[in-house]
Amino acid sequence: MDLSTKLIHDDNKHNRVPDVAPPINVTTTFRYGKDDLIPWAERDNFDFMDETPVYSREGHPNCTRLETIFSDILDGHSVCYSSGLAAFFAAMIHYNPKQVFLGQCYHGVHCISDIFSRNFKVKQRPLEDIEQYAEEGDIVHLESPVNPYGTCIDVRRYADVAHKKGAIVIIDSTFAPPPIQYAWDLGADMIMHSATKYFGGHSDLLGGILVTKDKKISSQLKEDRINLGTMIGNLESYLLLRSLRTYEMRIMKQSDNTAQIVKYLHENRDRYPHVLTKIYHSSLQKDDFVKSQLVGGDNPVFSFCLKSTEQCKSLPDKLKLFHHATSLGGVESLIEWRALSDDKIDQTLMRVSVGCESAKDLIVDISTALTQLEQEYSNVKI
Ligand SMILES: *Cc1c(COP(=O)(O)O)cnc(C)c1O
Repeated sequence: MDLSTKLIHDDNKHNRVPDVAPPINVTTTFRYGKDDLIPWAERDNFDFMDETPVYSREGHPNCTRLETIFSDILDGHSVCYSSGLAAFFAAMIHYNPKQVFLGQCYHGVHCISDIFSRNFKVKQRPLEDIEQYAEEGDIVHLESPVNPYGTCIDVRRYADVAHKKGAIVIIDSTFAPPPIQYAWDLGADMIMHSATKYFGGHSDLLGGILVTKDKKISSQLKEDRINLGTMIGNLESYLLLRSLRTYEMRIMKQSDNTAQIVKYLHENRDRYPHVLTKIYHSSLQKDDFVKSQLVGGDNPVFSFCLKSTEQCKSLPDKLKLFHHATSLGGVESLIEWRALSDDKIDQTLMRVSVGCESAKDLIVDISTALTQLEQEYSNVKI
């Protein structure tokens, strides 16, 4: 079956009632049935909870549905969490590394690593140090396309070096889930996604996913999740399930829109000489690895720099179709002056998350706003 069919039908086998749309199960606890009276001492794993839920921190019906779909479309055993960061935290707890190698990546991933450094003396190193310092059991965390730029790093190259040293490769593929990018093909030992972004797609839920090829690891992760209390919520699971039905259409439209907008800006940058300085996106990268990583299309986040922070402050107000807000992946286009949420980034950087509106309308909106800014900042009086 193709992706679009899987997203809509993979979880049919979990139907418990005749409803076509699965119910929102708000219950935290489930009545024991006459056939479920098996003492805990006689259970050797938690898998039965997918069929017969007991308590919602341990498992609940819509999480079971989600994990069935994610396991299929992400090609492994999937485990869902209350957020993307809860998923990364779970991976760190599971692998318990002595060192973690990080490049430019989601700031919360750096913050979790800082907690591990503070409490457990986990050493943090840059990706350039893998070859020299990585040892068996260390984690190499690779994010591509990279937040906030929307450009790619050569994932395979880092993964190969990591594997030679016996390190474990986690790929955060949040910025380009399938069918855009298939992280297993790039050398992942574990894949991570923030479902808050493209899978959720409506800016109304938090969720995270880990995917492993090893059933034993996913069972351990599920057991740890019970004890860490990082289960995805009942209501969020329902929202995410609903979102998944239209996921492929959404991301393909977002991908196509982005390609058109970036092409427009790139080809017309001369129109904004007093405003636009740099544009970052994978479609503008010439490296061969980019096309071999983004096999299904362009990733729907790009960024650009303006001449001054003053311009960064005033651009969002001139846009009608881009909300000035953080986050990404939703159907509504967003723009963010990144200085507002990242102190280490270029302070003139604007990040754009492209939504599902018409590309034509988005281009008109962005070019109108840039033209206004150009007129304000050029000496030419119109
Ligand atoms: C948003 C994001 C996260 C964290 O996800 P939450 O669901 O907000 O916890 C991790 N990695 C990337 C690349 C992200 O964009």
